[in-house]
Amino acid sequence: MKPNRRQFIASSLLSAGALSLQVSAQDKTKSSAEAQTISLRGRVVCMTEELQKLYQVIADCDIRGHVYTLKTNDDKFYPFLPVDIAAAVWMDERYRQRDLQVTGRIFPQGQFIEVIRFQSWNNGKLHDLYYFCDVCQISSHKPGPCDCCQDPFQFRETPATEENAKHAE
Ligand SMILES: [Zn+2]
Ligand SMILES: [Zn+2]
Repeated sequence: MKPNRRQFIASSLLSAGALSLQVSAQDKTKSSAEAQTISLRGRVVCMTEELQKLYQVIADCDIRGHVYTLKTNDDKFYPFLPVDIAAAVWMDERYRQRDLQVTGRIFPQGQFIEVIRFQSWNNGKLHDLYYFCDVCQISSHKPGPCDCCQDPFQFRETPATEENAKHAE
């Protein structure tokens, strides 16, 4: 008898939880309805330093850190949201040296870009940027030890797969 009662309580808790999840999911859909997925070409700059050149902003990057930003070819600035999927911009200077194609989301509340995928233009061809462990055949979006064997991930820049190339167009 006892286990049954416990089961009943557990399942009613579960459905109450599921209900509140459903409600918050609906709220989320409402507020992010206008998020837009875009693909932009440009280079990584520090917004503070760019604005220092243009408007004499007093930069303090040594203490406050750089504001890494995608500067598109038409001179628009899209600061990177500091999410994990964008970590390579902070962790690996190669991402700050390349001609990038960034797929991501922008939001009605501001110009920040949430990175979905980093690609690069190399000799006129689109390349995928990522990290890979040859031993375990695992890929990652940022440097660090392999989740499986703990050897460091190796940086890769390989011609974009057809599917990824389509997204960038
Ligand atoms: Zn800076
Ligand atoms: Zn590994």
